[in-house]
Amino acid sequence: MDEIKKQLIEALKDQQEIFGDDLFEKISIEIKDKPKKELAVKFVDEVVKENNEEYQLSGLTLEEFQKAKNLVELNSMISSCQLCSLGKTRNKFVFGVGNPNADAMLIGEAPGADEDQQGEPFVGRAGKLLNDILKAINFTREEVYIANILKCRPPGNRDPLPIEMETCMPYLLKQIELIKPKVILCLGRIAANGLLNKKLTLSALRENTYDFYGIKVVVTYHPAALLRNPNWKRGCWEDVKKFRKIYDELTA
Ligand code: SF4
Repeated sequence: MDEIKKQLIEALKDQQEIFGDDLFEKISIEIKDKPKKELAVKFVDEVVKENNEEYQLSGLTLEEFQKAKNLVELNSMISSCQLCSLGKTRNKFVFGVGNPNADAMLIGEAPGADEDQQGEPFVGRAGKLLNDILKAINFTREEVYIANILKCRPPGNRDPLPIEMETCMPYLLKQIELIKPKVILCLGRIAANGLLNKKLTLSALRENTYDFYGIKVVVTYHPAALLRNPNWKRGCWEDVKKFRKIYDELTA
């Protein structure tokens, strides 16, 4: 029964990945005895209060980490962050990996179970598939830089909360500022909407190339979604070819 439930949840997550949140918002309104929205709002309120207290207690100000001159310095300044509740549940802080001067950067939404254990983004089966995708467009993992919007794992691989994305986003922006990539590949709907501040479906996001403060942004599927739906690989192939072409044009 548990296995069927798990498969159902994964199937719904895949639908959400492609078609967005509309279906799921409808369900939360119709189930009257489970006020999910109210609970979520209450939880977010608590996180905000908690953040404010911890923010002051930690002595870390936005200005301080903004002064980091390189990724090593930034990592050591933020790796004990407790600004959101995920700091308490993580095993390992997952900063990012790769070439600190990369012209190509890949951004996902958050660490999963394997990443949380190893402290590195995109390891395990999804990471292996990502390495294969990179290889297919003549990149090595060491040549690019790979990071997530959130540096800590949401328990049970749930989607990141908006407040968590908002709290953690300045760290990613600082990473981008230090690396100065010319092109970014967003892996999945949540990462793309988070970075680009949009509320679009993955299908809509994949249709365009975006400009993020002068950096080109291409959107494709999250490798974990490709593992569950191999028929999406063809679309991913088109996206990553576009990503490589933009990289070649900008670095020629
Ligand atoms: S997810 Fe980001 S903001 Fe939250 S504790 Fe981890 S590093 Fe800090």
